[in-house]
Amino acid sequence: MTTEPVNQDLWESMRQQNRDKAIYEQAAAYAFDYLDTIVDRAVFSSDEALKQLSVFDEPLPQKPGDVPHILEMLHDYGAPATVAQGGGRYFGFVNGNVIPGSLAARWLADAWDQNAALHVISPIAAKLEQVCEKWLVDLFRLPEDTAAGFVSGTSIATLCGLLAGRNTILERQGWDVVEDGIFGAPPIRVVASDQAHGTVRKALAILGVGRNNIEWIPADEQGRFDVDRLPLLDDNTLLILQAGNVYTGSFDPFVPLCAAAQGAGAWVHIDGAFGLWAAACEQTRSLTDGIDMADSWSVDGHKTLNSPYDSGIVLCKDRSALVKSLQASGSYIQYSDQRDGMLYTPEMSRRARGIELWALLKTLGRSGIDALVARLCENAKLFGEILAADGFRVLNDIVFNQVMVACDTPELTLSTLKHIQASGECWCGGAQWRGEPVIRISVCSWVTTAGDVRRSARAFVDARETARQKQAG
Ligand SMILES: *Cc1c(COP(=O)(O)O)cnc(C)c1O
Repeated sequence: MTTEPVNQDLWESMRQQNRDKAIYEQAAAYAFDYLDTIVDRAVFSSDEALKQLSVFDEPLPQKPGDVPHILEMLHDYGAPATVAQGGGRYFGFVNGNVIPGSLAARWLADAWDQNAALHVISPIAAKLEQVCEKWLVDLFRLPEDTAAGFVSGTSIATLCGLLAGRNTILERQGWDVVEDGIFGAPPIRVVASDQAHGTVRKALAILGVGRNNIEWIPADEQGRFDVDRLPLLDDNTLLILQAGNVYTGSFDPFVPLCAAAQGAGAWVHIDGAFGLWAAACEQTRSLTDGIDMADSWSVDGHKTLNSPYDSGIVLCKDRSALVKSLQASGSYIQYSDQRDGMLYTPEMSRRARGIELWALLKTLGRSGIDALVARLCENAKLFGEILAADGFRVLNDIVFNQVMVACDTPELTLSTLKHIQASGECWCGGAQWRGEPVIRISVCSWVTTAGDVRRSARAFVDARETARQKQAG
């Protein structure tokens, strides 16, 4: 069969697109328009914008499409259905914004389209991962030669840390998981607080440790690991701790916990998705005292640090434990004497996310990162103070960037949250805390100012007023 003429046109038109750059300029113009208007946009998409998403419901096109038209569709119907995370009044989940220098570096690197699997596939990606590894270990004050793997987020980073821990513990018992698998392996102990994040539970399930095999320790009233309830540990134990509780922002007391684990030879993993960054800030560093005694850590770039999605990092004190658990083989894989990124991650082909992470760390520097973390925490404190003065119940000690509030009754809390979410003024999520519905505020954007906090707090008060009026009927 010969190539159809339509395809000849296709290759030629794509060559032309790379020559004249018009489509890239069009995309850049749309992006600039988005960035210019983000601060004033409604934080959540309008009903109209959501309805118009139906323009995307079409059968797979039979023929190649017109790129300017495709970009226009994204601009006209896609952008209005984004959530304005970049605008300074988004406080949902623990979603960060993006630092401009990092975004720009990513655009550039997107044009490079590098695969970070091996040094021989991308020397620059390998180099910048190596630099990021060194800088992060320094920022977090972790043991020298701690290894870093650059993955999609803390979910995968935690999976990798727990994998290295599980395999090391089993190896001590003479069991090689890589060779002999997990079925029939001797049991290991897993100790975790009942406040462990959902992704920890998921990672353990993937690793063959079910919910019923875990020694759950009831947390204290701030969601911290209760040291008094720590069971006797041994060298067959995986102890899972947390830097930054997703509800309260609290930190486990690492010094006594890690000391006990170290004494017993247990493996400690710390889920520090957003909280590990406390170690990089003078004001909050003491929250992370003792983390250097752990064995592995997971942390996100895309939350507190405001890197572009998706960016997570697994850190492991014992480099070889991580590599042994993740190394792939194949006669065509060409390892080098330089950094080969895939040794530290589950993936082989992988986006070179170390490039924009490096640019971010260099853009902010040590003092900028310190200031970013401090800024998030100060705005969270301010949010809590204003809401308390406005008659909301603040349910947590605000030690980091999380604030959890409720109204006088559960019904009023739920209805107020609904009106906040519909207001377009700001956006927060809800949750259950100790049996009652709560409103979760996560201050996670460098853009957010004290003015944004005040304006958002007013939206809270207005929403509660609307909710009260509806209740009064
Ligand atoms: C967000 C979060 C995770 C999951 O991280 P992802 O980057 O979404 O995979 C895990 N633990 C905590 C405490 C988190 O806040």
